[in-house]
Order: sequence, then C-alpha cells, then structure tokens
Amino acid sequence: MIKYRRVLIKISGEALAGKKGWGIDPAVLKSVADEIVSAKKTGACVSVVVGGGNFWRGREERIAGLDRGTSDYIGMLATVINACVLRDEISRIYPRVVVQSAIEVKELCDPIRKREAMDALSRNAIVIFAGGTGSPYFTTDTAAALRAAEVSAGCLIKATKVDGVYTDDPVKNRKARKFDRLASMEAIKRNLKIMDISAFSLCMENGIDIIVCSLKKGNLVKAIRGKKTGTLIVNRVSASAGH
Ligand code: UDP
Repeated sequence: MIKYRRVLIKISGEALAGKKGWGIDPAVLKSVADEIVSAKKTGACVSVVVGGGNFWRGREERIAGLDRGTSDYIGMLATVINACVLRDEISRIYPRVVVQSAIEVKELCDPIRKREAMDALSRNAIVIFAGGTGSPYFTTDTAAALRAAEVSAGCLIKATKVDGVYTDDPVKNRKARKFDRLASMEAIKRNLKIMDISAFSLCMENGIDIIVCSLKKGNLVKAIRGKKTGTLIVNRVSASAGH
C-alpha cells in the first residue's frame, strides 16, 4: 500500500558529494540511485529535482564582482551535471529514466515539456528535472515545489543530510529535538527554515505534503508508504486527495 501515488524527490547537490563535501562521490551516487529506484518500485510516480550546491551556489561570491545572474546560471548548469550523472547511474538498474532541463543543454538532455513529462511518468519512467526554475535568484527547493505542483505530486520529499526538522541545529545543539509531524503554520511561526518561503508557500497553496528525511536506506520507500520517517509537514487536505 502506498500513501502517495505521485511524489517528487528533492536531492540536494550536497547529498551527492559524500564526505568530501564537493563534487560527486561514486559510492554515494550509486546508493542515491538505488534509493530512487526502490521508491519507483513501490508503484508510485516518481519525479526528481536535483540541486547543484556540490559544485556551485550563485549567492556565494567565489569570484569577487561576478555578476549574480551569471553566477546563478552557473549554479543551474551544476544541477544539469548532477541530473545527467544521476540519470546515467539510474539507467544501469532501471531502464526508463529521462532528464528535462529548464535551461537548454540539448546535447545532454531534453527541455522541460510538461506534457512529455506526464507522458513519461504514465509510462513508468523516472523523470529528473534539472536547471532549477530556469531563472536566477531562485533555489532548487523552489524548483522542486514548482515541479511538484506541475506533476500534481501529493508529497515533496526533501532528502537532506539531516534526518528531519529539529527545534534547533542538531549539530550545534545536542538538546535539539526532532519533530515527527508539524503543521505548516507552526513551521512558519517557529521560523524553522525548512525551505525558502516561496517553495513552502507553493506547497501550502497546492496541498502538497512535505517530508524532510535523510537518504538512509529505505527512507524514501517509508515516506511513500506513509510510514514514520523524518518529519512530515501536512498540507494535503485529505488522504483521499488522490495524488
Ligand atoms: N539556481 C538558480 N535558480 C533556480 C535554481 C538554482 O539560480 O531556480 C542556482 C543558484 O545559484 C543556486 C544554484 O543554482 O545556488 C544551485 O542550486 P541550490 O543551491 O538550490 O542547490 P542545492 O543547495 O539544493 O544543492
């Protein structure tokens, strides 16, 4: 039994970097691909958005005076690198996987086309969305919320290094407590910074639940089946919402 028939999984660039903290760790890449394929094998429609922070973040001024727009487009290109590497890794174990990108790199992947994405999902493909929103000054969290709304996902699973939402930074504060479940308004009131506000409000407006969890083996499957994992932020009006 699955709770969510359609999910969008957001993988941060950092999650692909492993302990090095930069670039792509092949062993981590393989385990991420395995987890995504296990998620697909639950029978759910699975879309993925990958970040690019393991290579480049537009807001970090690495080169003094570099134009912010240029820097953000480089960040979006980083998401294309991650998406294509992830696609090729997934394709070793699951044959139907495509990348659509919001910025055109036509030698490597397809452009974003909603109809084709929906068509691919209905044929049991895993669809990876790259290039963020295609516009500077945004994050891939906002891109994830946007694509989740476009594919009518019932849940956005934000897979991070941390296994949920805490009252405080668990690395710095050993007394920080993890939430199992949270109402959106409470998350906002407590300023818990789960995602940027634009991503969060897109999920609220479109009734998309958010699950924040780590990429530990089995977590994505648990999230799709409605079993306890990480932190659940409830936005769906009812369990019979159908997505
Ligand atoms: N980015 C952007 N617009 C978007 C998505 C991403 O300009 O819609 C750029 C931005 O510079 C960002 C970088 O791409 O810093 C990498 O994305 P992000 O930091 O969200 O990746 P993550 O932290 O999830 O790996």
